[in-house]
Amino acid sequence: MNRQYAHVLIPLALEHPYTYLVPEDLHLAEGDFVQIPLGARNVTGVIWSLTDKTADEPQKLRRIITRLNALPLPAAMRKFIDWVAAYTLAPKGLVLKMAMSVPAALGPEKTQIHYRLTSTKPERSTPARRRILALMSDGLARRASEISHLAGTSASVVKGLAGQGVLEKIAMPAHPPSKAPDPAAPGHELSADQAAAARRIREELLEPGTHRTALLDGVTGSGKTEVYFESLAQVLKSGKQVLVLLPEIALTAQFLKRFEARFGAAPALWHSAISPGRRERTWRGIIKGGIKIIAGARSALFLPFSDLGLIIVDEEHESAFKQEDGVSYHGRDMAVLRAYLSDIPIILSTATPSVETLNNARNGKYRHILLPARHGGAKLPVIRTVDMRDNPPQKQKWLSPALIEAASQTLQRGEQVMLFLNRRGYAPLTLCRSCGHRMACPNCQAWLVEHRYKERLLCHHCGFSAKTPQACPACAAPGSLTACGPGIERVAEEAAAIFPQYSLALLSSDLDGGIKKMHRLFAEIEAGKIDIIIGTQLVAKGHHFPNLTLVGVVDGDLGLAHGDMRAGERTYQLLHQVAGRAGRAQAPGQALIQTYEPENPVMAALTSGNRELFYDREIELRRLAALPPFGHLAGIVISGKKESLVTSFARNLARGAPMQDGIRVLGPAPAPLGFLRGRYRYRFLLKSKTGVPLQGFIRKWLESNRPRHGIRIHIDIDPQSFL
Ligand code: ADP
Ligand code: ZN
Repeated sequence: MNRQYAHVLIPLALEHPYTYLVPEDLHLAEGDFVQIPLGARNVTGVIWSLTDKTADEPQKLRRIITRLNALPLPAAMRKFIDWVAAYTLAPKGLVLKMAMSVPAALGPEKTQIHYRLTSTKPERSTPARRRILALMSDGLARRASEISHLAGTSASVVKGLAGQGVLEKIAMPAHPPSKAPDPAAPGHELSADQAAAARRIREELLEPGTHRTALLDGVTGSGKTEVYFESLAQVLKSGKQVLVLLPEIALTAQFLKRFEARFGAAPALWHSAISPGRRERTWRGIIKGGIKIIAGARSALFLPFSDLGLIIVDEEHESAFKQEDGVSYHGRDMAVLRAYLSDIPIILSTATPSVETLNNARNGKYRHILLPARHGGAKLPVIRTVDMRDNPPQKQKWLSPALIEAASQTLQRGEQVMLFLNRRGYAPLTLCRSCGHRMACPNCQAWLVEHRYKERLLCHHCGFSAKTPQACPACAAPGSLTACGPGIERVAEEAAAIFPQYSLALLSSDLDGGIKKMHRLFAEIEAGKIDIIIGTQLVAKGHHFPNLTLVGVVDGDLGLAHGDMRAGERTYQLLHQVAGRAGRAQAPGQALIQTYEPENPVMAALTSGNRELFYDREIELRRLAALPPFGHLAGIVISGKKESLVTSFARNLARGAPMQDGIRVLGPAPAPLGFLRGRYRYRFLLKSKTGVPLQGFIRKWLESNRPRHGIRIHIDIDPQSFL
């Protein structure tokens, strides 16, 4: 029986589905993509539910136009969208929009004309025709250009044979599916530790139809990838799909290479730099189920998997999994939610777990699977601090004598050195020596960062860019603008001056030449063609450079200066990861961290190698302050172009905050970035005790205080950034 009404979710900033009339001759099911009228336009939406009753007046309802000839959005995906919207408080339509990121994939699939031999004989036999008949006698379908090329004939001969019916036209998919990975392909022989870890995952996680989470917790270089390759192979054998989430595009190339070496074919990739054509094919392959394995960024969570069997989150602690703009969500947390809703296992892999994940592993919520040693007997690097108070660099220089000496010895042995500084560009601040004017972004409350190679000043928040001026724009003094502080370009300049005889590569995410050049540089580093690697966090993780034995951290204190609740954790993770790049093969590695605060607990934990001590303390601090995971936080940012409107709206909102036990509303206060992209920003911070859901409270509170006059409210549940 056909239902009369349909609730259709539309991929726009709408909280709920809209009701439409179902035409009598249209047979619809939940998940179907449909064309509907919306205002003066026609748009595509998804049938969220069908019903025979409606509270709306039927004569006011509009009619569904048609059903698209596309596979329905799988039920698991619709449920996921409902939950993500409820958790993040984002409009449900915007969450759906992330799942409909490839509109072209809902249209007809592109085909190409191929030709195939029939039983009709040609009217007249010529040498060219005979060559084509011989070629095509294998029964395969080929494109005209392919046939004429292989048979050495002109295109007109192919056309002629087609005209006589000797060759018949058939339409084939424009891109036939590529080779599938072979899950039975043998991998490296696992070490005893690795085999034990793989066995535990198999026995405790991979029973079909169970949701369980495992923390695969192994030191850098322990072979976590080899272990989860085993688990992934097993799920692929069962015919189900596997999703591997990686925090950065930079890591996908390396993953792809290793995966291909092991399984004989590449996984499908998903991230922002994938071409539109490939996106479309991938989206179709996932919803049809032909694509079994996909590696990608957090957005891959919103692909319409037909039969997902396992999720792996590599480097689970990475803050890059958090999306701040639009729908604010944490890729790792939503991956756990996705696995839970689909009753499938999920593996979180890392050498430096997030405090939240480690706490879940310690209290038994997650299985804790450990890999305590590096593979193949490689030793973990020795980490030491360089106390910059006793070992100061020269004036306007950033490398200490101790680090220079260690680098010099390493290079003389023919080994590689990495200098790490998590700051792009040449200098974070440019000021005028005559009048003290500081070059600031016109759209943000932020200094402009000099990029000397580009000869530009850039805003790292909004992308504003201007040519570096010759004279101070305030006092017109010529040549008086001076760089203050180091960015990696400046460190590279210093290193090149000290070690002119060695080759040097600079790696950061704003590299000219994009991803291709980056991959080429990574390959050159691996091949040992580069002696000194200078980079931002882009080089800190995941990479395996066998000949790299010294890592120098230029400013170990940089991340601690932020002072938010995760500053210690983040600094620990980042420095541990970057130190872990050293000594991954035979030669032993060392890491030197330049710091003005060697007694800081983060530095102490790094140099002592006592990780648990650090986490014990972090977890205890969080418990005492009732911070996550011992409570919840939500950030709410009110922004607008006119400051007085923003403050009055925020103050009104504060007055209207309901009282609820276990929830505290802090603010409004000007955000640390009080002016961003041309908008003034005020923040609220909400804290709740575990078990007191913040979402319901926020929903109720904001419902009665709708913004007007161009004011925007951005809600960030479990914020990672407090700027
Ligand atoms: P992790 O992800 O834990 O940092 P990887 O999986 O990258 O470690 O492994 C580190 C290096 O050791 C890689 O080059 C990998 O190929 C190699 N490796 C790990 N396990 C094995 C194994 N069982 N046999 C051979 N090589 C291995
Ligand atoms: Zn800006």
